[in-house]
Amino acid sequence: MSMTDRERDVCRRLEQMRRRMADELAAWVAIPSGRGHAAGLHAQRAALAGRVRALGALTRDMPCDARPEWIDPPWSRDQAAAGVDVLVGEHAGPGPRLLLCGHFDTVHDPHSSFRELKAIGGGRASGPGCADMKGGLVIALAALEAIRDAGVPLAWTFVLVPDEETGSFGSDRALRACAPGHAAGFVFEPAGEGDSLVVERMGAGLFMLEAFGRAAHAGRDHSKGVSAVRALARAVLAAEALADPAAGRIVNIGPLQGGAATNIVPGHAAAWGNLRFARPDDEAALGAALEGLAHGDDGEVPRVRVRRIAGRPAKPMTPEVERLAGIVRGASEDLGRALPFGRTGGVCDGNNLQAAGLPVLDTLGVRGGNLHREDEWVDLDGLVDRAQLAALALLRTAEAASTMRA
Ligand SMILES: [Zn+2]
Repeated sequence: MSMTDRERDVCRRLEQMRRRMADELAAWVAIPSGRGHAAGLHAQRAALAGRVRALGALTRDMPCDARPEWIDPPWSRDQAAAGVDVLVGEHAGPGPRLLLCGHFDTVHDPHSSFRELKAIGGGRASGPGCADMKGGLVIALAALEAIRDAGVPLAWTFVLVPDEETGSFGSDRALRACAPGHAAGFVFEPAGEGDSLVVERMGAGLFMLEAFGRAAHAGRDHSKGVSAVRALARAVLAAEALADPAAGRIVNIGPLQGGAATNIVPGHAAAWGNLRFARPDDEAALGAALEGLAHGDDGEVPRVRVRRIAGRPAKPMTPEVERLAGIVRGASEDLGRALPFGRTGGVCDGNNLQAAGLPVLDTLGVRGGNLHREDEWVDLDGLVDRAQLAALALLRTAEAASTMRA
């Protein structure tokens, strides 16, 4: 397939937006929206709301659910985004509606010296969240703008989430509520390894193993003590034994906490962990086995309690995802770039959206690397071609969905 005149017009407009995209990215990277930093999250959200409204969309707020306290160890509980809503922009248009999704939090410490977008040579720049995913937000909005300016009417919903990097526990319900009524979903996470389009993701869930023993002085009353650390250690090993990485079942345990001082038999110990699974039914099986490690009644020692929360369901390749990926691959080839398909054990909001019945592609953001590190980089020269790919993906998916409907 070759490009239509309309598509060529959209691509030309995006070429002319090269400078503006880079400037907008620099401005957004300078907003510290990492680790639950409320002021930065509110500022980034306000910037996005203004940008989405300027495209002619109406915006609304969807409150986040409270994050269950136990899922974070006590020393990192302040890192979850409290009191920031999901932002939803809705643009009216004829034909099938498309859903775009992104997150405006980052993993970066708002008080670190890594705060600005700086050129690092080779057409690249480095800064907190530049690839994951402020760059993705910039190119998605640029694509929508070029489509509008080319006079193409498109019905879209843009869902913007404040807590993706901490698991989207607050926004999961909003994500699922937004999914129905859309023909397809696009999430602007950075491109996969080797510029690939990720078509399959594992799912993830969190758990906590907690052991209760009886504290006692290690020298004077050692025999009266019951070690919670010993009970926890057994449970940790048993939990790890449930994993079978080759079969797509991963159990990762850490961090740990146990005891109060070296001269006290530990009365309490806890471990936090992560389950990863390739298939939806693995989640139930692994979860049930994990819950089977609990023992002892209330007040009995030692006792082990298991708590578990479903995080993000597995995101398998479905026929609908395959069709969608074929459309995007065709667009990429028309832009002169091959688009390999990939799979990952990583998770994102695409998992939540697809679990609500929406076929989703979720690595349509920028090219970049060293994600979640203080040398995260983005391919600045590539903002234009990634925005062009996003625009063609949106246009062709809308077209394919309307011919299917007709
Ligand atoms: Zn991300």
